[in-house]
Amino acid sequence: MTDPGTLNVLVLGGTDEARRLAAALADRPGTRVVSSLAGRVRDPRLPVGEVREGGFGGATGLRAWIEENGIGVVIDATHPFAARMTASAAEATGLAGVPLLILRRPGWQQGPGDDWRWTPSLEAAAELLPSLGGRVFLTTGRRSLPVFAGLDELWFLARSVDPPRPPLPRNLKVLLSRGPFTVEGELALMRDHGVEVVVTKDSGGRMTTAKLFAARELGLPVVVVRRPAVPDGVPRAETVERAVAWLEAVAGAQAG
Ligand code: NAP
Repeated sequence: MTDPGTLNVLVLGGTDEARRLAAALADRPGTRVVSSLAGRVRDPRLPVGEVREGGFGGATGLRAWIEENGIGVVIDATHPFAARMTASAAEATGLAGVPLLILRRPGWQQGPGDDWRWTPSLEAAAELLPSLGGRVFLTTGRRSLPVFAGLDELWFLARSVDPPRPPLPRNLKVLLSRGPFTVEGELALMRDHGVEVVVTKDSGGRMTTAKLFAARELGLPVVVVRRPAVPDGVPRAETVERAVAWLEAVAGAQAG
């Protein structure tokens, strides 16, 4: 049962920002925060407070969940590449008439000395790779590995939180590990494995930037997959602080 005086906030999570947002709202008076995780990582880093796990069943399922749980505000703090969840959040909140904010950290900016090749998709990255080097460091997540499965002439070092599932590239070494990483560690890793090219999504944030600095120092090309577009007309914030300020404004308007 939800108290009619309580503001119920649904935070769509799976990121550092989502955890920091849940922590920032934990002591807000008259507020109940529910963080939602997809349930894909075996041992996820959990936010403080209430957590639910697993998909909602598309936009229709999410709309029903919002209405059944008396949710007054949704903040989509998912990863910039979680495009289906974001699209579903936009549709469901539109149907339920509930305000939505997208909290999305800024993308990475190329600096002097960087040799970045922007591509529109993982598939385009895979097409580009044979022209850039034979030994590839893949940091795009375990579920992206099938895209690179046909590239038998290349050798891959892939880093992921949980073990990947087939189909996988034929010449593959998997490193199970979770950030944040250090520049020294990334330099050693790339040197030890004779890495010639790095592949990354434009995830942004500080947790995984060390590989970019290491690649710059080693003069390696980095294939950077562009972010998917976000739905039109949805307000956005780039920081947790701005997301909290947006929530205060929305809560003030709802109260008044
Ligand atoms: P996605 O492709 O956009 O989502 C696929 C489906 O998974 C969604 O339609 C939804 O299922 C469910 N889902 C996704 N995020 C959810 C959440 N926070 N709570 C409940 N259900 C969720 O997402 P993804 O790229 O697989 O990412 C899954 C999760 O991992 C997200 O929480 C994201 O923040 C996190 N993550 C993703 C990446 C990445 O590179 N993609 C990196 C780091 C963390 P229903 O349609 O059934 O609701």
